[in-house]
Amino acid sequence: MGGKPPWFRCDPLKLGVTLSLMQPNEALVYTVLMLRVMEKSGPVMETERSLHRRTGLSVKQVSAALAGLASDGHVIALGRDRYDVPDTHAEIARQQTLAAQREYFGKPQRELPSDWVAIKNAVIERDGLVCAYCGDFNGPFEIDHVVPYSRGGENEPNNLCVACKPCNRSKGARTPEEWLS
Ligand SMILES: [Zn+2]
Repeated sequence: MGGKPPWFRCDPLKLGVTLSLMQPNEALVYTVLMLRVMEKSGPVMETERSLHRRTGLSVKQVSAALAGLASDGHVIALGRDRYDVPDTHAEIARQQTLAAQREYFGKPQRELPSDWVAIKNAVIERDGLVCAYCGDFNGPFEIDHVVPYSRGGENEPNNLCVACKPCNRSKGARTPEEWLS
């Protein structure tokens, strides 16, 4: 996985409070498991031995830390050496939503403004997920510049609409009038 280390995308304040309330060994085991679960976007396989190697704690210390974490509900032992960290669920769900949106709308173009996500969401909220040109509601969808950006059309909601990918690609750098004539 590329990008930033996962904990920058967590709630740092909540993470800090959570860790400060744990025994040091528990905090160490918790951090390792939490990051592994974030990385895998779901439960992970670990043993007391593998956690011993990852943390430098003794197997006995790992075992005691796991018991403490499980009794507090910070770690759930699913059996067969599988562990889950429920604190990560909201963040994983958020990342999966973002990934699905990226897949749905494609990568933003280079010249898009910094508040493009907010603009795009406003257009989707206004238009719904329906192609403005052919009425398709199955997607995949893109955001079309009615007057093409390359020809001076602005990144303003009144120059943007939801379009299905085939329509948007077919229209290209043309106005609707040019495209349809
Ligand atoms: Zn369409």
